[in-house]
Amino acid sequence: MAVSRDHLLHWIASVQQIYARGKQYLTDLDSAIGDADHGINMDRGFTAVKMELDKSIPESIDCVLKTVAAILINTVGGASGPLYGTFFLRAAAACAGKIELNVHDVVAMFEAGLDGIVQRGKAQQNDKTMVDAWAPAVSVMKQALQNGNSIKSILQQGASAAKEGMKNTIPMQARKGRASYLGERSIGHQDPGATSSYWILQQAADLWE
Ligand code: ADP
Ligand code: MG
Repeated sequence: MAVSRDHLLHWIASVQQIYARGKQYLTDLDSAIGDADHGINMDRGFTAVKMELDKSIPESIDCVLKTVAAILINTVGGASGPLYGTFFLRAAAACAGKIELNVHDVVAMFEAGLDGIVQRGKAQQNDKTMVDAWAPAVSVMKQALQNGNSIKSILQQGASAAKEGMKNTIPMQARKGRASYLGERSIGHQDPGATSSYWILQQAADLWE
């Protein structure tokens, strides 16, 4: 199967719902090592995305992703706004001109998004950020692609790796972002951005064949 613009819209709508439901949980994670706003930020951003997409649906896949990026950059704020904005902007560029996404395109889209986050935020793996969810996920998805797996299977493997990466942030000491101000006191808490990132990928794995 391939991912169409409507599959993409369905995914964005699910992500919006999961942030609406998980707002308090993400904010609680951020209250332990940040400023208690990550859930509020993500919910505000994706609610604004939903309002825009309800008003008018962009014609192409890359225009949908560009719209998501622009709204997140304008409404989310904090560290995560520009980072997720860059993620969707790069994802859009990777999908330019495509009517639907095949298995290669889907992996390329997430890889481009990760590259954008890394270039923008300069975090490496083990810095206790969203990169700790995305980097292992993209690496596992690239391997699964080489092994000839389906979109569904690739995304499921990627989501498992993102979940593992998210959990692995617990014993890490933060070296980037607000949590790094806490030094050793950041150890023992799950990173909120790694959690919101895992949710994005899990929604795609649940929805796309
Ligand atoms: P803020 O920290 O400005 O309050 P949020 O609370 O919305 O912003 O987002 C915090 C999340 O952003 C962190 O949990 C972390 O995953 C992510 N983050 C922060 N700085 C970076 C960075 N330089 N690179 C990648 N991710 C980062
Ligand atoms: Mg915060």
